[in-house]
Amino acid sequence: SLSNRLSSVFDRLRGRGALSETDVLEAMREVRLALLEADVALPVVKDFVTKVRDRAVGVEVLRAVSPGQQVIKIVNDVLIEQLGGEGAVPLNINVPAPVPVLMVGLQGSGKTTTAGKIALMLRTKERKRVLLASLDTQRPAAQLQLAQLAERAEVSSLPIVQGQTPVQIATRAMDAGRREGFDIVILDTAGRLSIDEELMDEVKAIRAATNPAETLLVVDAMTGQDAVNTARAFNEALGVTGIVMTRMDGDARGGAALSMRAITGAPIKLTGSGEKLDAMEPFHPERIASRILGMGDIVSLVEKAAETIDREEAEKLAVKMAKGKFDLEDYASQLKQIGKMGSISGILGMLPGMGKIKEQLNGANLDTKILKRQAAIISSMTVAERRDPDIIKASRKKRIAAGCGMTVQEVNQLLKQFEQMSTMMKRMNKLGQKGMMRGGLG
Ligand code: GDP
Ligand code: MG
Repeated sequence: SLSNRLSSVFDRLRGRGALSETDVLEAMREVRLALLEADVALPVVKDFVTKVRDRAVGVEVLRAVSPGQQVIKIVNDVLIEQLGGEGAVPLNINVPAPVPVLMVGLQGSGKTTTAGKIALMLRTKERKRVLLASLDTQRPAAQLQLAQLAERAEVSSLPIVQGQTPVQIATRAMDAGRREGFDIVILDTAGRLSIDEELMDEVKAIRAATNPAETLLVVDAMTGQDAVNTARAFNEALGVTGIVMTRMDGDARGGAALSMRAITGAPIKLTGSGEKLDAMEPFHPERIASRILGMGDIVSLVEKAAETIDREEAEKLAVKMAKGKFDLEDYASQLKQIGKMGSISGILGMLPGMGKIKEQLNGANLDTKILKRQAAIISSMTVAERRDPDIIKASRKKRIAAGCGMTVQEVNQLLKQFEQMSTMMKRMNKLGQKGMMRGGLG
């Protein structure tokens, strides 16, 4: 996956405070490849890489994550932005009824199925009266296919009249819509295997006759490099107002979404995830972004780290650890940061190559609840005791336990834990110096 590749690029780079231009350029080679593999069209990839590079150069590297992970986070952020930000954009159907919605796209992209899905969605979720009309005179069974879908969605379909042109059917559909009080008229058009002038002229004429509120371009998520040509042609001829990505249930990497959005500027509104009529969801940029990157939890890890880790504090801690001067005060501040980030083994689980240390920690039984109690014990110690835990003998233990409402046994446990932790930190630090891992644990 891309995250693995970036990690390996950056494994070669160490001890940098900020991402340099060379670091980033090297990472961008991997990003470019990954996007192409995810079926993003070449011109879109180039543009995208430029955006990420501009943002990544000079960015501070958080101690808790590797530079590779940080670049992945930036790539993910830019992806989400380019895919249209966080939110889903609803269909624009708040215009006087009957609202014409035009489905366009290549043959087999899923127009007819999507028309049925949208009809079902509008009927059940928005209580709309929907009329489905097939303008597909190319394939003999196409109009029947839509009539059957309408039945399943429990909405009306325009009666089939042989020998009419697509524009004539469209006009008849809008008339019926007005006359019979429909809220929405979905116009399903014929596609071609590839863009041709005849197809475009036909759709343009339908558009001119009906003035649709939405012109939805339906695209198959599996579409590769051709996606750009398709999107550009439809958009130039018709002015696409929204995109529907179908077959997201397959193993498509989702790159077509990025291409479509970049070329048309139109929002991706819906995604299809199966042949059934209810297999359609609003578009979620974050999901497609992580699908393109295939990167699991890295992004959330970087986000958590950025939110919670105080870089300077971490720096100071690392220096202390290196000198073997890690004391209970440091332990307490470490506990606080770890507490903020959630369970320590959960965090380590997200970091590559940390399995062994995670096992040791699990052995030491460090869960969040215990960490909080330990922080409470430390808070009832004096500064002198925190700095030099060796002076904590029986009478001090009693006083500390009473101060935080815990038992002497628990105070003992903490002290033992601290000893284990500082031993482990020294060990980790040695590993770090040998170049086996970068920095400390935050
Ligand atoms: P059209 O030629 O653009 O009208 O495409 P159709 O709506 O006839 O769909 C072509 C095929 O793709 C049909 O077999 C559909 O069942 C299937 N299909 C459409 N949308 C999806 C989807 O989101 N996922 C899957 N797996 N199949 C789909
Ligand atoms: Mg069709």
